[in-house]
Amino acid sequence: MNKMYINGEFSSGHAKEAIPVIDPATEEVISEVPQGIEKDSLNAVAAAKSAFDIWQKMPANERAEALHLVATKIRDHHDELVKLLIREEGKPIPESDEELWWVEETFDYYAEIARHDRGYVIPPGDPDQFNFVLKEPWGVVGCIVPWNFPLLLLAWKIAPALAAGNTVVIKPSELTPLSTLRMVEVACAHLPPGVINVVTGYGPEVAEPWVTHPDVRMIAFTGSLAVGQRIAGLAAPMMKKLHLELGGKDPMVIAPDVDLDIAVSGLAYSALLNTGQVCTSTERVYVHESIFTHFSEKLVDFVGKLRLGNGLDENTDLGPMIRDRFRKKVEDHVKDAVEAGAKVLIGGDCPAELERGFFLKPAVIVDVDHSMRIMRDETFGPVIPLMAYRDFDEAIQLVNDNKYGLGACLMTQDAKLVKRYFEEVHAGTIWINDPLTDNFAGPFGGMKMSGLGRELGQEGYDEFCQVKHVHWDIEGKFKDYWYPY
Ligand code: NAD
Repeated sequence: MNKMYINGEFSSGHAKEAIPVIDPATEEVISEVPQGIEKDSLNAVAAAKSAFDIWQKMPANERAEALHLVATKIRDHHDELVKLLIREEGKPIPESDEELWWVEETFDYYAEIARHDRGYVIPPGDPDQFNFVLKEPWGVVGCIVPWNFPLLLLAWKIAPALAAGNTVVIKPSELTPLSTLRMVEVACAHLPPGVINVVTGYGPEVAEPWVTHPDVRMIAFTGSLAVGQRIAGLAAPMMKKLHLELGGKDPMVIAPDVDLDIAVSGLAYSALLNTGQVCTSTERVYVHESIFTHFSEKLVDFVGKLRLGNGLDENTDLGPMIRDRFRKKVEDHVKDAVEAGAKVLIGGDCPAELERGFFLKPAVIVDVDHSMRIMRDETFGPVIPLMAYRDFDEAIQLVNDNKYGLGACLMTQDAKLVKRYFEEVHAGTIWINDPLTDNFAGPFGGMKMSGLGRELGQEGYDEFCQVKHVHWDIEGKFKDYWYPY
């Protein structure tokens, strides 16, 4: 059995049970991890708290070098970690390879920000005074991570958190804990004990205690809206700093001027990457009515040629879904839509040729509208619902008609439409002609119910700092605005 990592040591903690880890492509149990209990998560907090003083006082240059070394050691184990990611999560080789690349580069990126960023000087109100703003770490940060990008979403939290001088307690998803444990084992041994701690187990037992714990001053969570809402409710009485990256229902608008082949290919990528299990997956598509029929035919043709299979196979385009219950949710969304009048042009069923694994053939659906769950709620699977629009006013109205606001894509060469789109659409990221491409320096996160705060960029570092304004009157003389008036 694998072990948890607390205070620089691997152990089974107080776990009495184990959680099996399943390969979603084969349904085989590939390993197991301890089912941690509250005592383990409290021990992790105590370790992180006692390491905080050493870590925050370490000169920024040394912390930067330590984070660069994390990146280097991950690179040294790149291929092994890619394979482990594929086995527990299912993404095909190019996608898992890219996830690891992002992890490595994220540690390097934040190592450099940490090296120079400590705050800033502001103009004083009087020449005898000196005013500045200090950026200080929060202390112990609880990092709670989902299964769909187990290492990337972890790195987007812990790299800036550690760079800013915080220590961390981590809970990976119970579905994908192996790559996190291995990454910490191969890449983090040089960090002082307690700076990084990993507790395996279920959220309510091992992560929820952090949300209400007075020594955990910040929670950085990526996951579902429902769990995010629960965390926000529990944290509110403590005024705890929250960083919440939640769900999405991202739209794509296809304007009439597009090259159809490019738009079809871009849409398939943005809707089906990681088998549609990306928070920013395109989940609703608005195609101009003048090209709708031709576009949908080409899309069906393209999607029908994609190859399903084990992510370890170089010929695989789409891997499995993570578990059967997530596949069932997608099937339910499709079934509800069909019962309300939608038409499935292709896919939506399980491939007969793949006997094991949680596979689902990618689907293209038409005759959908906003009364259907498939156009309103997060589906999180390989489904592309297409709806026609008459003019750009209608397209923008449809795009904004959703509780989420994570990302939004537009395919066009028309600059006037681009300007309207990025000004009028309520979403944290706007992609024009290149969906789902992130940028280390570009803040990532959601508007509306997609969450609070941003990852990546300077903003993704500042989330992990609390600011302190220092007002220093150097002369220390009487002031004419003091008593008596
Ligand atoms: P989830 O909310 O079920 O679980 C996320 C993490 O929270 C897991 O580690 C889980 O064990 C833990 N957890 C569960 N209950 C908890 C509780 N009561 N207290 C504390 N922690 C708890 O989400 P998931 O199924 O792992 O991931 C899919 C979801 O994540 C989707 O909704 C997706 O949109 C979202 N997501 C968002 C982003 C983003 O950046 N906005 C990125 C990736 C995924």
